Amino acid sequence: MSVYLDYNSSTPIDERVLEHMVHVYRNDIGNADSRTHIFGERSRKIVESARRQVASILGIKNDEVFFTSGATESNNIAIQGLKTYGIAANKRHIITTAVEHKAVLESVRAMQELGFDVEFVAPNQSGRVLAEDVLSKVRQDTLVVSIMHVNNETGIIQPIKEIGDRLAEKNILFHVDATQSFGKLVEELRSVNYDMLSMSAHKFGGPQGVGALILRKKHYKLPPVKAIVCGGQQEQGIRPGTIPVALVAGLGKACELAEMEYKENDKKCRLIKEKMLFMLQRSGLDYRINGEQTYCISGTMNICICGVQSEALMLLVKDYCGVSNGSACNSNSYNPSYVLAAMGIPLDQIESSIRISWGAGITINDVEESFGALLEAARELVW
Ligand code: PMP
Repeated sequence: MSVYLDYNSSTPIDERVLEHMVHVYRNDIGNADSRTHIFGERSRKIVESARRQVASILGIKNDEVFFTSGATESNNIAIQGLKTYGIAANKRHIITTAVEHKAVLESVRAMQELGFDVEFVAPNQSGRVLAEDVLSKVRQDTLVVSIMHVNNETGIIQPIKEIGDRLAEKNILFHVDATQSFGKLVEELRSVNYDMLSMSAHKFGGPQGVGALILRKKHYKLPPVKAIVCGGQQEQGIRPGTIPVALVAGLGKACELAEMEYKENDKKCRLIKEKMLFMLQRSGLDYRINGEQTYCISGTMNICICGVQSEALMLLVKDYCGVSNGSACNSNSYNPSYVLAAMGIPLDQIESSIRISWGAGITINDVEESFGALLEAARELVW
């Protein structure tokens, strides 16, 4: 059986999350915003309990959590939702990086079309942007700085703590796309000074189709974002639409589990990475690891196997493991990874690069079989 090694695109749902969701689907049929009957009240209780679970893992207040359909929507609201404020306050400058997820890149492009001025900071070969490079771009009219915590393709952790502290002194809005670090780098995220944060449940054992936008209050006031779609007053009007109660319950449960288990999960992921590195070293293949590993999250590795086309490799090992060569959102196009290109990696190396990502559920035995088969296939393909 093929081993799934593409956790950065989506993780398998945790059985305990699924069980909780099925219970909610079976028993709690109401709309959480129906105030006229007990069914609505029961659903509201479930939603508020999930909100507490999300707030707890981040160490923030419950009323700073806004449920959305996932990080794509959260990123869109965090950036495009600032349009009205930016225009009124004459703040039309946005800073982001060249390696953000498309949900951020396309949102800032939409703002560009409205006349906002966007600057993209490039990372160096390590995959990291320098905090100083971001901060040196700040202007009087800077509206928001949007930086991801962990890159989905390389697993590289960005210096968001330093950036957040410096931006807070200057009173500039800071948005963090924490989709790949949420539930994993728990202590780090608690220490970061951000105004807005995006996450998706399915990246850490929760269901697909739900996430949250975190809006931190300053002097009792939320950041000046507005909804980007019209509808009802759900989620304080920031995200109109019926709250999917069972999905939200699943998100809450995944947060509760991650808060209890993140340290143990991290240890397991580290052991798996060590095993893969050991196998790579003994493989006889010429390889490079993309991104500086001292800054890399424990469950991701982006490897260039020199002389092996990643497309051919993935086809050949389909029956042994599922890996990827770019983010899922771009995987029906064959464009070389813009993330690796922004790091200055040459095209031939990009075309030979694959991303492997895993979670605590993967065993050493799984790695030996699947990654062993991948290395074997690479040896066949090398030219
Ligand atoms: N940001 C990052 C860094 C991601 O990795 C992803 C998912 N690949 C997203 C945003 C979007 O998440 P979703 O598809 O769950 O909306």
